[in-house]
Amino acid sequence: MVEPEGLREAAISWLQMRTDGGQESLTREDLNDFSFADTGTRLIAPMQGIWKPGNYSAALSFRTSYTEPGKTPPYEDSTGADGRFRYKWRGTDPDHPENIGLREALYRRLPLIWFRGVAMNPARYQAITPVYIVDEEPEHQQFVFVAAEDVEAAFELSESAHETVARRYLLRMAKARVHQPVFRSMVLSAYENRCAVCMLAHPSLLDAAHIVPDNDERGVAAVINGLAMCKIHHAAFDRFFLGIRPDYVVEIRHDLLEEADGPMLRHGLQELHGNSLMSIPKSRRDRPNADLLEDKYEQFRNATKNGVA
Ligand SMILES: [Zn+2]
Repeated sequence: MVEPEGLREAAISWLQMRTDGGQESLTREDLNDFSFADTGTRLIAPMQGIWKPGNYSAALSFRTSYTEPGKTPPYEDSTGADGRFRYKWRGTDPDHPENIGLREALYRRLPLIWFRGVAMNPARYQAITPVYIVDEEPEHQQFVFVAAEDVEAAFELSESAHETVARRYLLRMAKARVHQPVFRSMVLSAYENRCAVCMLAHPSLLDAAHIVPDNDERGVAAVINGLAMCKIHHAAFDRFFLGIRPDYVVEIRHDLLEEADGPMLRHGLQELHGNSLMSIPKSRRDRPNADLLEDKYEQFRNATKNGVA
């Protein structure tokens, strides 16, 4: 069966809706809920990475497996220095049907879905969509793609050679569209959707807080530089109302401990002083890095000393 008209657009808007605008990650089971005009078309490849359903001429999606912190990905899919993403061919034959499927999407400038693994057992994926294949680098056996709002933006990013301010801005946005939701889902999965400080368990009220600002332009921020936090504790952490020692003990700024106010101050902050973090990742590799915490805690102590609010 050839690709039914409107399928791609329907898949992309379904994913947008189902993931709260690209924020939440999905399991394979979640993805099975998609249906389009009784076609039975799946969104993600059952086994391999590139998904070209049935006799469709172009690929619909491609997938990158989750790699645990500290492990090397099975094969290298990376962001180039130019800020665009790379995806390896299936095997080494340029004419493998799946490679042809991605090339077809390039020629026809079709929107695709990139499923990026953010957790294992069960596997969870961040659906990044739309993405556009904008080039191929046969010498490296890979495709080049961009996460952009629309096809014009994607190809403009790819073709304009000049490093203008506008281009740098667009590239930064294109990368942020990928990195922010992926970082959020990785951190929230590692903390089983609970605030590290108070255990609140409503993902829509949770953020992935950076311990130190993530200035690394090369890749997805690491889970060890993150903490799942509710909105209040995230803001309190960023603004030094609350500090976390490298041994995971919470401290509240001392002048706040003196203040008398309502239940949020009393239960939400003061009573947490001296407590250990209530939720930390099961896997040691996912836990907050002590050096990064030390850095941030030092800033907290300085801010406390100088009375910065
Ligand atoms: Zn909290």
